[in-house]
Amino acid sequence: MINNAKSKDPTLIVGGGPAGASCAWKLASAGISCILIDKASFPRDKVCAGTLSARTAEILTSSGILPAPELEALKLKEYRTISLWNRGDLLRTFTSQHTSVRIVSRREFDNVLIDKASAAGARIVTGEAAVSADSSSVTTLTGKAFSYSNLVGADGCGSLVRKVISGKRGKGTGIGFEYFIPLTDLDEEPEEIQIHFGYFPYGYIWVISDGEKVNIGTGAVGSPASPSNIIFALKGFLEARGISCEKYQLHGALLPSRELDRNLGKGNIYLAGDAAGLVDHVSGEGIGHAVESGFLVAECISSGGDRKTVLKRKDNCISIVRQSMFYRHLLFSPFTHGTAMMGLRDNEEYAQGYWNIISGIESYTEMFSRILT
Ligand SMILES: Cc1cc2nc3c(=O)[nH]c(=O)nc-3n(C[C@H](O)[C@H](O)[C@H](O)COP(=O)(O)OP(=O)(O)OC[C@H]3O[C@@H](n4cnc5c(N)ncnc54)[C@H](O)[C@@H]3O)c2cc1C
Repeated sequence: MINNAKSKDPTLIVGGGPAGASCAWKLASAGISCILIDKASFPRDKVCAGTLSARTAEILTSSGILPAPELEALKLKEYRTISLWNRGDLLRTFTSQHTSVRIVSRREFDNVLIDKASAAGARIVTGEAAVSADSSSVTTLTGKAFSYSNLVGADGCGSLVRKVISGKRGKGTGIGFEYFIPLTDLDEEPEEIQIHFGYFPYGYIWVISDGEKVNIGTGAVGSPASPSNIIFALKGFLEARGISCEKYQLHGALLPSRELDRNLGKGNIYLAGDAAGLVDHVSGEGIGHAVESGFLVAECISSGGDRKTVLKRKDNCISIVRQSMFYRHLLFSPFTHGTAMMGLRDNEEYAQGYWNIISGIESYTEMFSRILT
């Protein structure tokens, strides 16, 4: 396989979500020729709650792809308070003194990142769906063939590029659903982010307002619950609050579950974001990991393929997702769920720990060793 970013063909990135756009921006900013193709035309919608953790905000602003004032301009809401519930019982409300969670519209956010990549010099080709890929080129639905020196699969769950390495597309066995309820249809706007556990195993229901509409949705990564069971739980949750589901459209999308590729691909084929399985198995967070892995892939390519050096940092997104795959059992397993719920209810430290995890300011290992020792 070729593994030389200086060969005459450009780096080809399939997928223009946060992973692909960040990778293209970083490569183009370093003067490396790259083309990004996406089947959609931007701006496009993406099923997502659009929450950005403090860690994600830091990655965006410190890298320079989204300076702080531009992130502020994209922000629809910012939260410091979270309420934690177990099957309708309020466990605790927690307010952070230090960090916040921002809400953005994925339509706007992704579009801005694509514009950033384009302004940095990446060639953006939209409306081109990759339908086959091999070790030298990618062919699209319209019959165009793109030769590459390096190929980056940033094509989300069910990644086609993943097939070039493993013989199989990504599976995307996790799933998320959401309803958007206009605030005008509700008696009041929730003042904090609500997290509701206990409606189905290994997942939760969230309630988050963006100031115009309330997103009520489910995330389930690695859950034994079937999609129909999850939808049933979500509909029951809404109906119990007097919200008639029939009035609103249900949106759903796959999430990668237990599909982490710790090497972000192989040889000159790279994977980033959902395509690499980089979704937190507790929170379902994936935007920050997509951006960070896009940058990591760009660094690997800039360094001539030196994955070992670039990926060795212990606190990167790969390490966080690995930890989440282990520690999720403490929160969600039927054997420990009750104890975890009592811990969140009775112990401020647990709630602080949960907030730290979803903010990305403490790793799972650090948090659990602090709390449990
Ligand atoms: C219901 C739900 C709620 C979520 N909420 C949050 C949240 O609040 N916060 C958070 O951090 N994460 C959240 N996530 C996860 C987050 O949406 C993903 O982890 C994130 O979008 C991954 O980014 P990506 O760039 O890897 O992939 P994507 O954003 O999925 O982008 C992939 C791109 O590839 C393109 N593409 C796919 N196939 C092809 C092809 N064959 N040819 C060309 N282009 C192709 C697509 O059009 C798309 O633009 C949520 C997910 C779900 C399902």
